[in-house]
Amino acid sequence: MRLVFLGLAGAGKGTQAKTLSEKLGVAFISSGDMFRHHLAQGTELGKLAKGYMDKGEMVPDEVTIRMILDRINQGDCQKGFILDGFPRTLNQAKALERALGDAPVDRVLYIKVGEEELVRRLAGRISCRTCGTPYAQQMLADDAKQCPRCGGELYQRADDQPEVVRRRLQVQWPEVQGLADFYGRQRKLVEIDGERPVEQVEEELVKAIDRVG
Ligand code: ADP
Ligand code: ZN
Repeated sequence: MRLVFLGLAGAGKGTQAKTLSEKLGVAFISSGDMFRHHLAQGTELGKLAKGYMDKGEMVPDEVTIRMILDRINQGDCQKGFILDGFPRTLNQAKALERALGDAPVDRVLYIKVGEEELVRRLAGRISCRTCGTPYAQQMLADDAKQCPRCGGELYQRADDQPEVVRRRLQVQWPEVQGLADFYGRQRKLVEIDGERPVEQVEEELVKAIDRVG
């Protein structure tokens, strides 16, 4: 099972992709988490990525593609994977297609949420420094300091500040449209209304992949 999650920042990709990967027993690959990991470790890639991430811009395709394709080549991806945040450009989608060859992406799950709701969600978003899981403020106790999933430290991502959020949405919007067209033409796209409760979105996703195969 090879799945791609598509959607703007704050649509709920990360939350859903992570849960679904655990349910399916396939690898979970988040480009954003990988960049943040490099950033925390102070690697060359992390230093390069930081300049873009801080501004809400995309990291250049070349480095992003190399990072993700290396990851997909690892053993745990043999049984399948879920991609969250990649591809984010048409160029990335084409590179992925070439790399996968005759074991292509099965489904692309496009979680749609209106801009107003996205800005609202991102402003109140808290993330786990260790596992990357995002939480809505109201999901956590007021004094929560630890991730309910792994016990890691909770923090607000620097790029969840309002100005950077606006820039991220502005940058991502045309790309997401292009990718939806691309995968729509391949008949792989499933659109899901992401403004409903988490459990309902989860149900829709499970239905969408039941039809795979
Ligand atoms: P969000 O979806 O909430 O914007 P992510 O955690 O997926 O957040 O990504 C954070 C940042 O990492 C992006 O703003 C961008 O700078 C970089 N990034 C993540 N994925 C990609 C990608 N596929 N291509 C280029 N840059 C990316
Ligand atoms: Zn965690």
